[in-house]
Amino acid sequence: NRVDNPYSGAKVYVNADWSAKANAEPGGSRIANQPTGVWMDRIAAINGTTGARGLAAHLDDAVRQAAGSPLVIQLVIYNLPGRDCAALASNGELKADEINRYKTEYIDPIAAILARPAYASLRIVTVVEIDSLPNLVTNVTPRPTFTPQCDVMKANGNYIAGVGYALAKLGAVPNVYNYLDVGHHGWLGWDDNFGPSAELLFQAANAQGSTKANVHGFIANTANYGILKEPYFKIDDNINGEVVREKAKWVDWNRYIDELGYAQAFRQRAVQAGFDAGVGMLIDTSRNGWGGAARPTGPGPRTTADAFVNGGRLDRRIHLGNWCNQSGAGIGERPKAAPESGIDAYVWIKPPGESDGASKEIPNNEGKGFDRMCDPTYTGNARNGNSMSGALADAPLAGHWFSAQFQELMRNAYPAL
Ligand code: BGC
Repeated sequence: NRVDNPYSGAKVYVNADWSAKANAEPGGSRIANQPTGVWMDRIAAINGTTGARGLAAHLDDAVRQAAGSPLVIQLVIYNLPGRDCAALASNGELKADEINRYKTEYIDPIAAILARPAYASLRIVTVVEIDSLPNLVTNVTPRPTFTPQCDVMKANGNYIAGVGYALAKLGAVPNVYNYLDVGHHGWLGWDDNFGPSAELLFQAANAQGSTKANVHGFIANTANYGILKEPYFKIDDNINGEVVREKAKWVDWNRYIDELGYAQAFRQRAVQAGFDAGVGMLIDTSRNGWGGAARPTGPGPRTTADAFVNGGRLDRRIHLGNWCNQSGAGIGERPKAAPESGIDAYVWIKPPGESDGASKEIPNNEGKGFDRMCDPTYTGNARNGNSMSGALADAPLAGHWFSAQFQELMRNAYPAL
């Protein structure tokens, strides 16, 4: 009895905890009533933490906001053992081998709450375990981008087991719509990552008693900064004999240049891997606007492929692999149902104003490490082409409120606020 696109004809839940922080910022009321993702980012989040209500309280509020009409609430399932194996900023509370705690202390209680009859009329969208399975493709031996932690998670199988278990348990609740994370174009857009990722997702969708029927769709660009549409160049543009895909360093043989093209193509590749033909895509547009004074208004000069792409690209990052608190970013498209073919919705899963990671070491009891990709003085590693990190200074821990970033995101919003 699931509908094809849960966002069609539905309101989307506004998280009052986020809303209050946004509203407290000068100018924040312009976006404070937008729906954002509710992150279950640790076991304690289920019952609520300081400043963040628990899951049942969110669902109760969602029933109130629905007031008898269809309403989507967006939950982020994000607590795998050995979480975020290629980045330290969002390492989680569970150790690499704690798959049983993941099942019994995290997924089981969440599934039990979602299954309560009081919530049966909600359309519960779950964003399932961002950044995990893609890491098993790109950040393992023998890739130069490998990390020892990702090698461990590939060898012990706990990402696949965890995702399969989550899909099976959550998917058993008839009004849950599971969307699996597919990274973004600047991660899986290369041929050697794209197909293998679709195949790996299909494997996970069939692990631990799950079947593909538990996957309603996929989400691209969660908490990332990839531009939605890059209008001023194409991969096959030829600039003075230089083909953009081959010669522009920004593209570097990637098959895709933006999130819309990537998401639509991934949908098809996933169907080819065995997923149902009706799967739909979500794209996180919370911080991929790239507006403001630095936004190009036309193509770059037709001198070299690099000049052409760098002069015309809307995504102003130093390197596509940069992911932490990006300087110059702006709020993107407002949340919207069925905006393009194959796309169920543009959504704001990463709540604007919440940090991606601390710019220096900050002791904490959330399991979060210090990732130098969040340090503006860092000169990079193999995963960002040894480039500067492009991160804003003075950032707090991942998930904590970052007022300066919130203000910049509003300033650089596109469409403008
Ligand atoms: C953090 C989470 C937080 C989420 C949303 C992640 O980077 O690790 O703790 O809930 O961002 O802001």
